[in-house]
Amino acid sequence: MKSLKDLAVEGRTVLVRVDFNVPLDDEGRIRDDTRIRASLPTLNELVRRNARFVLCSHLGRPKGRVVPKLSLRGVAARLSELLGRDVRFSEEVIGPKASMLIRSLKDGEGVLLENVRFHEAETSNDEGFARRLAEGIDIFVNDAFGSCHRAHASVTAVARHVRDAGAGLLLEKEVNSLSRAFRSPLKPYTAILGGAKVSDKIPVIENLLNKADDILIGGAMAYTFFKARGEDVGKSLVEDDKLETARSILEQAEKRNVRFLLPEDHVLAASLEQAVSTGTAGAFPLPPDRMAVDIGPKTIDAFSRVIAGSKTIFWNGPLGVFEVPAFSRGTIRIAEAVAGSGALSIVGGGDSAAAVSKAGVGDRISHISTGGGASLEFLAYETLPGLEALGWKK
Ligand code: ADP
Ligand code: MG
Repeated sequence: MKSLKDLAVEGRTVLVRVDFNVPLDDEGRIRDDTRIRASLPTLNELVRRNARFVLCSHLGRPKGRVVPKLSLRGVAARLSELLGRDVRFSEEVIGPKASMLIRSLKDGEGVLLENVRFHEAETSNDEGFARRLAEGIDIFVNDAFGSCHRAHASVTAVARHVRDAGAGLLLEKEVNSLSRAFRSPLKPYTAILGGAKVSDKIPVIENLLNKADDILIGGAMAYTFFKARGEDVGKSLVEDDKLETARSILEQAEKRNVRFLLPEDHVLAASLEQAVSTGTAGAFPLPPDRMAVDIGPKTIDAFSRVIAGSKTIFWNGPLGVFEVPAFSRGTIRIAEAVAGSGALSIVGGGDSAAAVSKAGVGDRISHISTGGGASLEFLAYETLPGLEALGWKK
């Protein structure tokens, strides 16, 4: 897979797939411009090397129709401020006006195309649409790691219609950091998994069973495993249709000598709405009218000890309902333990990244992935459609 550094972009017209899928408030204003800022290294490099750049992104899920609230026009304005130079905006993704704007670019100038998902042909990975996106384009650069698990026209098909293609600086950094976690991780390698659902994470767990020494499980996910073992977990969140899978994962972990640690104690609450804890339980059965909402103090200590002895850590999924302050302690303490471990630490997942920044330890984590779904799929399958389009080999 080529990198932007290997591509002869000087004086060329470069299509850059970026991830400007920013959160908006009710008035359509940008609530957080982190993703726009994240594109700056690649864009600055293109400007420095006198390339002409055409930016393309999706925003939300307009489902193939023009949804004015999901226009990227406001993003072009914010990007111009951040980049310190004017980036034009094209109301068309493809068409005569877009072509004219692209042709009028001079070296170092750029234009942002309208939301690519205003066309149904984007998500159906339509070849004809991809060819039109590539009109007037010499080189394709993908810098949208968070979209690489999607076989969409601006992610995969478009690469077939340009002279050369490669990874932008952000994408390259993501791939390098995440592949360190499955290519030859320093041992001991610890995976910490939490969050709401086991079902989202089954392929990741299966991959980790081949790679990790210790797997620490928290969050609601733990209670599907406990129930699979025959424990009575009260009102805790359980995926009843995944009990069989959970049982098989537990068996495989034992066979492969992977230490699979579940919580030793549980912070309980009557419901998520009543944001107060009603105490901690150390043993099953859990009371029938209570749910587990966070890991307890003994689990924090046990997990922290494993974390402190690790050389590589991958973390996905909060260990409790961290959005509620009364149930956030476990997640925050584990974030601190990871940050203090000195290990190569990688955090993937939208909520997990939010938890790390809530704990205030973001600057002591080696890599926080910008792509939730993409980081999990990459870790599970060690490849992604968007990377294969750039020539990535497993
Ligand atoms: P990520 O976005 O990092 O991949 P997930 O989306 O898988 O993480 O999981 C995050 C969600 O899991 C949060 O909304 C959190 O409240 C929820 N969660 C964590 N622990 C529990 C629990 N014990 N009971 C219910 N929900 C939980
Ligand atoms: Mg999430």
